Amino acid sequence: MSTFHFSRSWVTSANDHPDFPLQNLPLGVFSRAGGARRGGVAIGDRIFDLRAALDAELFNGAAREAAEAASLGQLNTFFALGAVSRKALREALFGLLDEHSPQRERLQGLGDGLLVPMNDVQMHLPARIGDYTDFYVGIHHATNVGKLFRPDNPLLPNYKYVPIAYHGRASTVCVSGTPIKRPNGQTLAPGAEAPSFGPSKRLDYELELGVWIGQGNEVGEPIGIAAASEHIAGFCLLNDWSARDLQAWEYQPLGPFLSKSFGTTLSPWVVTAEALAPFRTAQPKRPDGDPQPLEYLFDAQDQQHGALDLELEVLLLTAQMKREGLPPHRLALSNTLNMYWTFAQMVAHHSVNGCQLQSGDLFGTGTLSGPDAGQFGSLLEMTAGGKQPVQLPNGETRTFLEAGDEVILTARCRKEGEVSIGFGECRGVILG
Ligand code: MN
Repeated sequence: MSTFHFSRSWVTSANDHPDFPLQNLPLGVFSRAGGARRGGVAIGDRIFDLRAALDAELFNGAAREAAEAASLGQLNTFFALGAVSRKALREALFGLLDEHSPQRERLQGLGDGLLVPMNDVQMHLPARIGDYTDFYVGIHHATNVGKLFRPDNPLLPNYKYVPIAYHGRASTVCVSGTPIKRPNGQTLAPGAEAPSFGPSKRLDYELELGVWIGQGNEVGEPIGIAAASEHIAGFCLLNDWSARDLQAWEYQPLGPFLSKSFGTTLSPWVVTAEALAPFRTAQPKRPDGDPQPLEYLFDAQDQQHGALDLELEVLLLTAQMKREGLPPHRLALSNTLNMYWTFAQMVAHHSVNGCQLQSGDLFGTGTLSGPDAGQFGSLLEMTAGGKQPVQLPNGETRTFLEAGDEVILTARCRKEGEVSIGFGECRGVILG
């Protein structure tokens, strides 16, 4: 689609839009006031209503089948169709929304019925999530957190062999804008012999990328590394809210449990693998002395093209900043190139034992911190375990999140010779 790189849309708000130009076309599920959930495509400040487009008979063939599946109140069926259908829908949408589209006048005549103002709708989770797995592939996060506990030996010996993960909780995954209630739980105060029960005092966020599984696999039939990226339908932002005090007391020997399962926030738009294709790049070379991945995790193509150059940002807006009319403050800027394992390696590893992945399953990458100050994807890292408060521009400080704090994640791909695309926002405010 190289000739389409600089194409513009007759939907004028799409042109130079930071997130949703013609080149992105992410899918999501929305509802109008009082209306049912349905699938749509973000274009500028509008949502292209797929049901309305089908009613106007704007699609044919494979694109029509894909649009039917994507017009439903959840995208699982669409995800299950796989890459060929996604590409057919993408190309049809591109043709319809391009400024030179022969159908332009007819589509413009359909007005807000076809192109719904984004501000007038509610967004929902894009799919029914059967299972949610959170990985730990951000090596700088793993190192930074490991250092807090084991200064001389931050990474455990399995880290460079195994894409580490734990099974998360799907039922409390929520869409951007959903408030997060501070969890209660057991914590062991420093020096105490027995735990106490009460609200978490060390509530944190984690900057992660979410991965939507497209076509799954049968039980007992692993997805090979060479085919693994074909099983990914798209990506979103993911905030893995974490109660650090609960986590520290409960996590041994089986890993995080209630410290994570009270809430996980996703951005509503599924940015497809196709939209991100121009921003794929080589997996950063492993440092000298690191082991090669085992054979089932190694694929030359994946090493050459399996990484993603995506800029990630964390912003904080406190209740006081809101009252003062201040803009959100950037806490961190990082990048998905900080992943030690590729997305394909995550898929191959998850299924290598015969575990079934299903359409609409969700992976988190794990916190994607960079190596330096200003690139840390959690307060745990920014404050060195709660010891060094973060100074905010209005004079406030934070070690962990307080009532009314709103955390906003954003992401953007930029590359010379390509139109930038973004993910929209992943927001959540802390109650209590
Ligand atoms: Mn996490």
